[in-house]
Amino acid sequence: MADATSECNIKVLCRFRPLNQSEILRGDQFIPTFLGDDSVSVGGRSYVFDRVFPTNTTQEQVYNTCAKQIVKDVLGGYNGTIFAYGQTASGKTHTMEGKLHDPNQMGIIPRIAEDIFNHIFGMDENLEFHIKVSYFEVYMDKIRDLLDGLCTGCTERFVSSPDEVMDVIDEGKNNRHVAVTNMNEHSSRSHSIFLINIKQEHVETEQKLCGKLYLVDLAGSEKGSPMGTAEEPFRNPFSFIRKSKTHVPYRDSKMTRILQDSLGGNCRTTMFICCSPSSFNDAETKSTLMFGQRAK
Ligand code: ADP
Ligand code: MG
Repeated sequence: MADATSECNIKVLCRFRPLNQSEILRGDQFIPTFLGDDSVSVGGRSYVFDRVFPTNTTQEQVYNTCAKQIVKDVLGGYNGTIFAYGQTASGKTHTMEGKLHDPNQMGIIPRIAEDIFNHIFGMDENLEFHIKVSYFEVYMDKIRDLLDGLCTGCTERFVSSPDEVMDVIDEGKNNRHVAVTNMNEHSSRSHSIFLINIKQEHVETEQKLCGKLYLVDLAGSEKGSPMGTAEEPFRNPFSFIRKSKTHVPYRDSKMTRILQDSLGGNCRTTMFICCSPSSFNDAETKSTLMFGQRAK
């Protein structure tokens, strides 16, 4: 799937979470019908993606099918972005982070952290690696550094093991919780971005290779949220995906500037379209699926 052209390589994947306890108790219907690996039918209409993950898909399966390749690409000098898009409570954070310290339930970010270091340990000893991570959020078009409450720019932390990456994530999440009164409302209105920056240098030839990976847990896509109402700037990165795969019509927005490196030029972009399976969320699910179809 990955090719070495200068075009952006965009994959759109769709994941449905299971019905939760309160939906079952309320008697909600399970609305999706899964048709093979790449399509799903909801309300008599089918939607085709690069891949569709039914509700019983494990975190490991999701990672192996679609995120693993991005690690290789970023170590090969590409920039990459993984987005999770969907209404609040559709499974975005579960997909991106999951339960951080649970080997079965951990999501893409902790698995990527492990995978990067596994690759490095197996590589040429003459390669020197510098890995930095940043963690921040965009709320009301303002950037907030989750690693330093006083700093408006973005702190970069050098990391040398998966555990150190986890520590940074824990620290950022704690800072976020402390600063926010209603976490549910806040996370539905803010984008959170975990950035991994990898530099390699060959000790003899001094040849350098850089790759950046943006891991983005977007604000809720429902009506009334920034993603649901604002045309610009929040939807801007996505209108680019729809309109053109080579030209990026950036406007002056924090989010698009942040993502500029990873949406233009040599990049690998994966978008998870996260959906609720409940009849209660029928309308939002259809509009989420439509959005994902248009992004292809
Ligand atoms: P979002 O980030 O989109 O608001 P969450 O990821 O927080 O949604 O998911 C909402 C709830 O559903 C959480 O309790 C989460 O653990 C659960 N959940 C989401 N996706 C799955 C899944 N694929 N399997 C099991 N539970 C899930
Ligand atoms: Mg979330």
